[in-house]
Amino acid sequence: MSVNEIEDGPGFADLALGPELLKALSGLGYEEPTPIQREAIPPLLEGRDLLGQAATGTGKTAAFALPMLQRLHGVLRAAGGEEGGEPGGLVLVPTRELAVQVSEAMHRYGRDLGTRVLPIYGGQPIGRQLRALERGVDVVVATPGRALDHIGRGTLPLKGLRMVVLDEADEMLDMGFAEDIEAILQDIPEERQTVLFSATMPPRIDGIARRHLREPVRIRIEREAPAAGEAPLIRQSAYIVSRAYKPAALGRVLDVEAPTAAIVFCRTREEVDQLTETMNGRGYRAEALHGGMGQEQRDRVMGRLRSGTADLLMATDVAARGLDIEQLTHVINYDVPSAPESYVHRIGRVGRAGREGVAITLAEPREHRMLKTIERVTRSRITVEKVPTVADLRARRLELTRAALQESLMEDGDLDRFRVVVETLADEFDLVDIALAAVKLAHESTGAAADEEEIPEVTPRAPRPERGPREGRDDRYGRDDRRGRRGGGPMSRVFVGAGRSAGVRPQDIVGAITGETRVTGREIGAIEIADRFTLVEIPDAAVDEVVEALRHTTIKGKRPTVRRDRDGAPRGRR
Ligand code: AMP
Repeated sequence: MSVNEIEDGPGFADLALGPELLKALSGLGYEEPTPIQREAIPPLLEGRDLLGQAATGTGKTAAFALPMLQRLHGVLRAAGGEEGGEPGGLVLVPTRELAVQVSEAMHRYGRDLGTRVLPIYGGQPIGRQLRALERGVDVVVATPGRALDHIGRGTLPLKGLRMVVLDEADEMLDMGFAEDIEAILQDIPEERQTVLFSATMPPRIDGIARRHLREPVRIRIEREAPAAGEAPLIRQSAYIVSRAYKPAALGRVLDVEAPTAAIVFCRTREEVDQLTETMNGRGYRAEALHGGMGQEQRDRVMGRLRSGTADLLMATDVAARGLDIEQLTHVINYDVPSAPESYVHRIGRVGRAGREGVAITLAEPREHRMLKTIERVTRSRITVEKVPTVADLRARRLELTRAALQESLMEDGDLDRFRVVVETLADEFDLVDIALAAVKLAHESTGAAADEEEIPEVTPRAPRPERGPREGRDDRYGRDDRRGRRGGGPMSRVFVGAGRSAGVRPQDIVGAITGETRVTGREIGAIEIADRFTLVEIPDAAVDEVVEALRHTTIKGKRPTVRRDRDGAPRGRR
């Protein structure tokens, strides 16, 4: 697909989605479908099976969720919208985190349709799931192990299923769910629609597709690389940061890079608005630009950028189309773009006319795979760099002060009027000390506020280890040793100042940790919940990251004290 086709491609309204879904999408600030959505939604709405190769970050969840919601809703309406019915849709996912994420997304998209979506996964008390299933749900999003448990108990009826999605199928196989998936698919009525998404297509995935999909439409989001010579002169780098630290990381990167003008790309209008507010609050001069703004407003924003009153432009892809900003030195992707084409398109805004430009991407650990895909497709190298530390930042600011002083010494003929100050002080103080005090004042007057927040370093998420089919399954909190935790390094305890009396449950702790850091559920050790506090075992190497991240997260609506447990010296795995 060429860049032009992306620009002129169909919008959500052209994809035959119903008004309730369109409303939800516009409410979420999605301005246009991503490439995978554009290609997958029409055939799925027609009822075709589909085999899609796409990584996280491409928008694949909405690509299957929107057609599923629309088709199930059509069936329900035809049946008179009866309550308490059996599920019509089943989504199988590899992890608890993904189950929660997908069902939240489906719930948001399907709000106006009244679709009832239930995540079920190991680790959550089964009683609650049983009650919810009994009341009736339309879509179940489940990990294969727990889904099979329910099927065995007769609590997850399969005969009403019309659409089944295998999401991140390669991950499910890596986690040893192959047999479970086969068992589940075998029991579902044949006239169902089946969708399989996978980031990679090893032969085993092909095998599942051949056995269980009927004449599937095949979609791959990777495309031809841009022609040689098309790539402009751009330094490309990426920082891996967890979500909680993204605004801080953006600020840090801006401080160190000191762009003349930068454009920061976000996925949605809401993100544009929020980030603009956050960055202005942090003392940057940012302006928002998105599709919801009128021409006059846009012109005003552009005027401020051109005149230098603002130096940061926060924009969605759609809003930034056709913009040509002479002063632009930096393009920053606040998220990894959903397709390599849009990456190419975005970074093409700098490095024009032979000038050098900089493209920086902030990626979450889980988005690392998409970054690799972009590198492969664009045949360019994106260097993953360490987020500048507080010390780096201080050094950089001192360097700026030094450069300013040097400039003043070389160019300013007007220094003599300060001589009297130096000479009178020299009677009492050493000349170097006087200079030092003057540098301090100059440095502080640049507004170099102390930014003391250290941003934890995270590395890309490593691929999951192979496990035997039944081993450990997805029962993330069953703290037995079958789970095959990764590594075997020492564990340390983290103290969290909230416990049973605050309603803390193991899943809250696990959810907070896996959601904000690169620690996986399997790596978390024993969780002891006392009345007023909780102790959780974490691989020693990850303790600092976990402590930092939890300090910025709420647990049960509160921000409890979090620290390394005092007698939490590394201990061997039990
Ligand atoms: P996924 O690849 O499904 O994990 O989606 C990645 C992220 O992109 C999620 O945060 C979605 O909310 C967001 N997203 C999906 N589709 C769109 C769209 N058309 N426009 C903007 N954001 C989207």
